[in-house]
Amino acid sequence: MSHNIAIDGPAGAGKSTIAKIVAKTLSFIYVDTGAMYRAMALYMLRKKVRPNHEDEVSTACRDVDITIRHENGEQVVLLNGENVNGLIRTEEVGNMASAISVNADVRTKLVELQQALAATADVVMDGRDIGTVVLPKAQLKIYLTASTHVRALRRYQELTQRGENCEIEAIERDIAERDERDMHREISPLRQAEDAHLVDSSELTIDEVAQQIIRLYRENA
Ligand code: C5P
Repeated sequence: MSHNIAIDGPAGAGKSTIAKIVAKTLSFIYVDTGAMYRAMALYMLRKKVRPNHEDEVSTACRDVDITIRHENGEQVVLLNGENVNGLIRTEEVGNMASAISVNADVRTKLVELQQALAATADVVMDGRDIGTVVLPKAQLKIYLTASTHVRALRRYQELTQRGENCEIEAIERDIAERDERDMHREISPLRQAEDAHLVDSSELTIDEVAQQIIRLYRENA
């Protein structure tokens, strides 16, 4: 039986950075489910699909094939065969991903893919509904959070390091808006699973959080 670790939490809590370290240390595969929603969002942006038109999103989603490959430990997302890793990390794509991820057809398609990946390999999977919906039987569930301000600051540093022009206030507003939508949508809202461990990363270093999760896994598995 494969072993699974589920990490959920709001945008900018440090999920992907930490999940990667945990996966590497335990020799698990890291699966970034946000990247799948982002690839789907990129397709919708290209096709000029209006995110608030449910039928448009549902119809467009049928033409999307998302697959995941791992190269040198890095997850590569293929959108209808095209490697889109370099195109999905923008705020525009992130906001579109949040808007279309309320759609039931989008979620069903991606959840099936995620469950198939976790059934055949030991994975650390991060997202919003992993502990609650995708992998309810995961050996370890973490709900990773941090204050809105700290999360905005981290995102700001990440974007400016990449040379993107941005304002901290706008990022904080975007993050709050995205959380609001992710936490209050009808299907699979972001929430802490009953059996998830709550970890607040506001005052901790990346390494401290990763070590805490590894310790919890070793104690629980
Ligand atoms: O984690 P990331 O910021 O890449 O996710 C982008 C968006 O995709 C999130 O804001 C959320 O709306 C959606 N998402 C989701 N379920 C997941 C992962 C991401 O709804 N498991």
